[in-house]
Amino acid sequence: MSEKAVDYIVLGAGLAGINAAQVLAEAGKSVTVIDESLPQANGALGGFTRFSGAKFSLLPAGQGLIPVAGGLDKLDQQIGLALSFCELSARGVTRSADLHGDERLSSEATIRTYESIVLSPREIEHLIETISKKIRKLARVLDAKIVDLKHTRTGWVVSDRLGSVATGRVLIAAGGRAAGSLLKVAGVSPQEGKGLDVGVRLEFLDRRAVQKLRARGPDAKVLLGDTRTFCLNHPGTIFRYPFQEISIPGGIVADEGEPHANFGILTRVKGKAAALNRALNSLKAVPQAEYEQAPIVMGIPSFFELPIIRSAYGDPVAQRLTVFAETLGALGLVDWSKEHRIHFPLLDWHWDVFAIGDTHRTDHPDLFVAGDAAGHARGLLQAAVSGRLAALEALDYASV
Ligand SMILES: Cc1cc2nc3c(=O)[nH]c(=O)nc-3n(C[C@H](O)[C@H](O)[C@H](O)COP(=O)(O)OP(=O)(O)OC[C@H]3O[C@@H](n4cnc5c(N)ncnc54)[C@H](O)[C@@H]3O)c2cc1C
Repeated sequence: MSEKAVDYIVLGAGLAGINAAQVLAEAGKSVTVIDESLPQANGALGGFTRFSGAKFSLLPAGQGLIPVAGGLDKLDQQIGLALSFCELSARGVTRSADLHGDERLSSEATIRTYESIVLSPREIEHLIETISKKIRKLARVLDAKIVDLKHTRTGWVVSDRLGSVATGRVLIAAGGRAAGSLLKVAGVSPQEGKGLDVGVRLEFLDRRAVQKLRARGPDAKVLLGDTRTFCLNHPGTIFRYPFQEISIPGGIVADEGEPHANFGILTRVKGKAAALNRALNSLKAVPQAEYEQAPIVMGIPSFFELPIIRSAYGDPVAQRLTVFAETLGALGLVDWSKEHRIHFPLLDWHWDVFAIGDTHRTDHPDLFVAGDAAGHARGLLQAAVSGRLAALEALDYASV
């Protein structure tokens, strides 16, 4: 091995990896960050940050991190540090005392509101530039697609297809949803995740059709049993991203001039692997253009009448999504009489998670996971905080 071994390798430079690297480097450790940027990112760091709804949602979003952090106060502290590193503190930090809660909307539906910092596309660009500069000063940053991880007596050897790229005592894997297959190749076992959420993303041509929902907060969630609204972008555009052999409609933030808005409806299904296989197999059997076309429609959607949804998700799911859409209409939160498109399939929590219990450790020595790959909470701020917490755990571990 020609390259010098470092204390820590951080794989992935999304918000989780960048924050983990910052904590480690500022603790005086030598750190190498390795990132193959997403295909659409033109070589920039930041992972999915640029291709997201750009909402940094505060507690109660990401409550799954409370036990991981060792309590609410400790989590609050890390949220403050992550916002400060991202230079977002001036946008207002909501402390736990201001936690928003659930409010009843009807006998069955509730709404959960979150305080979110919503950035414009220009602000997101600025954020990525700022934190990339900071991390390049603190750590060595390499551009490589890692295809192999090997654990040796002295730590991890991380390789691209040409051979070893870096060696390090401890590895923090922060490769987001893309990293699962690599970790499995390295022999890391996925843990039981939070199940699979399936649904649709609705795009309204005139965003005023969902302004009552937007008025409840930038990321308010309506909940009805196992079904909920998800990730409102107002204004927003649709961005399809690849997943295995299909594509998924993501909703991303848009400039004020954009008239459209979008939000998801998701419902939780049991038997994650079987449900995912069913959706993937039924979609692979039809041409991609067929499920991507999303014609303009009006009126309360009956998902039960859409054969592609019934075959991918099954009748009970189509029924639940329909009842939920009716409820949003009955509550006056969405005006279904306005033109909209139904984008399909929306699949969430469909990747493997590798963290054990309330930690960022894995079942492999000297290997930690952070951000989406850890699976404690999903989101931009949550990935940043998870990266910080993973680094703190890794520092403790390596000093023993
Ligand atoms: C369409 C969409 C909209 C979203 N909107 C929001 C929102 O508004 N608010 C919110 O809070 N959250 C949102 N999210 C979720 C949020 O984007 C993620 O939870 C967060 O970005 C996860 O960060 P991460 O650092 O864990 O992973 P990522 O951001 O996925 O970063 C991982 C990085 O690792 C790299 N990598 C992976 N494998 C390898 C490899 N083998 N070799 C080298 N590099 C590798 C990747 O290319 C990437 O650069 C959205 C997600 C999507 C898809």
